[in-house]
Amino acid sequence: MLSFDPEKIALPAGHYINGQHQAGEGTALQVNRPSDGLPAGQLFEADAQKVDEAVSIADRSVRESGWASCPPRQRGAVLRRWADLIANDTQLAQLESLGSTRPISDVVNHEIPFTAEAIRFYAECADKYSGDVLPTRDASLGMLVPEPYGVIGAITPWNFPLSMASWKCGPALAAGNAVVLKPSELTPFSTVRMAELAIQAGLPAGVLNIVQGGGAVTGSALVAHPLVRKVSFTGSTATGARIMSDAAFNGMKPVTLELGGKSPQLVFDDAGDIEEVAGRILRGFTANGGQACVAGTRLIVQRGIADALIAKLIELCQCFRPGVTWDENSRYAPMIDARQAAKVASVVSSARQQGAEVLVGGERFADTGEGYFWQPTLLSVVSNDNPAVQEEIFGPVLTVQIFDDEAEGLALASHATYGLCAGVHTKNLDRALRAMRGIAAGTVWINRYGRSGDFIIPTGGFHGSGIGKDLGRQAFEACQRYKSVLIDF
Ligand code: NAD
Repeated sequence: MLSFDPEKIALPAGHYINGQHQAGEGTALQVNRPSDGLPAGQLFEADAQKVDEAVSIADRSVRESGWASCPPRQRGAVLRRWADLIANDTQLAQLESLGSTRPISDVVNHEIPFTAEAIRFYAECADKYSGDVLPTRDASLGMLVPEPYGVIGAITPWNFPLSMASWKCGPALAAGNAVVLKPSELTPFSTVRMAELAIQAGLPAGVLNIVQGGGAVTGSALVAHPLVRKVSFTGSTATGARIMSDAAFNGMKPVTLELGGKSPQLVFDDAGDIEEVAGRILRGFTANGGQACVAGTRLIVQRGIADALIAKLIELCQCFRPGVTWDENSRYAPMIDARQAAKVASVVSSARQQGAEVLVGGERFADTGEGYFWQPTLLSVVSNDNPAVQEEIFGPVLTVQIFDDEAEGLALASHATYGLCAGVHTKNLDRALRAMRGIAAGTVWINRYGRSGDFIIPTGGFHGSGIGKDLGRQAFEACQRYKSVLIDF
């Protein structure tokens, strides 16, 4: 039985610093439940002084506790214990489901196992990846020696609070850093529980701290803090640009930026079974109500298969039913809040004014009270300049464009602003590989859409979709700086 009563969940309201809850400190901000729009609780915003306290404690703890200098296998063991606690914690699952857009069955079956596995992956990295011995002159030894940064500032969005936190904290902690994490002000609760479990697992107090608050006050204070030596951010492209600039002017610290997307699903006539392909396309743009950076929101389909695929997609879109996230039978995610629902409505409306035709959906579900459930929507568009093609909507809206030959399809697939992911669906290997080379995107999925549980595969975008990688060996290496050493003997 996974369903739960949202009124019976106790919410951790404050910051989590030095292994202690600090409830009720700072300006209070209201947090609402996406499923019914009712108040979930409050968070208290950390000002620059509170951020300074958290960062200073992190800096001291990581040195004095020995976390940075202990045998790496010991760090791995703590992270493995942390992953086990996460995997089995009912409270964590309920906090995530109550405060975010994720139905409880999805949290328990996907989000939590995925979060725990990401941490296990980085537990393994702790003692597997090393520096380098470099070819130098005789009688010299040249080495590249990795070392942790010290304190890493992590800032996460609201769409996958737990897994985003694991992608930031896993590699940073495994590499011997301390982390000060600011979750989104819209989903502040579950990350606190996650940090509590880390300390229970044996992480020294102060090595992982959570500060709550919005971007303008808490986020920017974290980026600017002189003891934060690196920033790892996931969120929108506009905020990413701001953070990059703030990081440049406040100590020239490196940034990893995982940003927005507008990813294409390029379907050729020879894609194979229509039902299977339609299922992939559908999941690609409706998972988490379309509120995923990797959402495949532009269907670019070859003329010969277009009618059959569109008909199947319309049929499947009509099967969705809204339901509160704390009901185990719910499968479909609401929009995070009224502002996000209004954003979807506004882009759909301007898309229509500029010639887009609604094939299915196009509005909020009726009878969902103050919940922000949006119908899966297909928009047929002719002009590539249509706002629904150009803007990241972050809702369950799929634009449909039809092409005749491969060159035309490839030209439509690359986007002027974003380059996060792309799906290519064809049984022709040569064509698939040409498309893989031809599309400017950090990830190309061929005959599938979406991540697997292979954490060794990094994720990250080209141009407006970001800089650097999360996941994979690359994310671990990016949590270290490299010292060049030359010894004469
Ligand atoms: P957002 O940019 O509004 O906020 C993200 C985080 O940044 C929040 O914690 C916010 O408080 C903080 N923030 C805002 N302004 C800040 C500032 N000036 N300084 C420091 N921190 C600041 O994004 P969002 O609406 O929470 O999330 C949705 C966006 O995230 C979408 O664009 C989506 O594509 C992107 N995203 C990308 C990935 C990826 O891996 N590429 C994954 C998930 C989400």
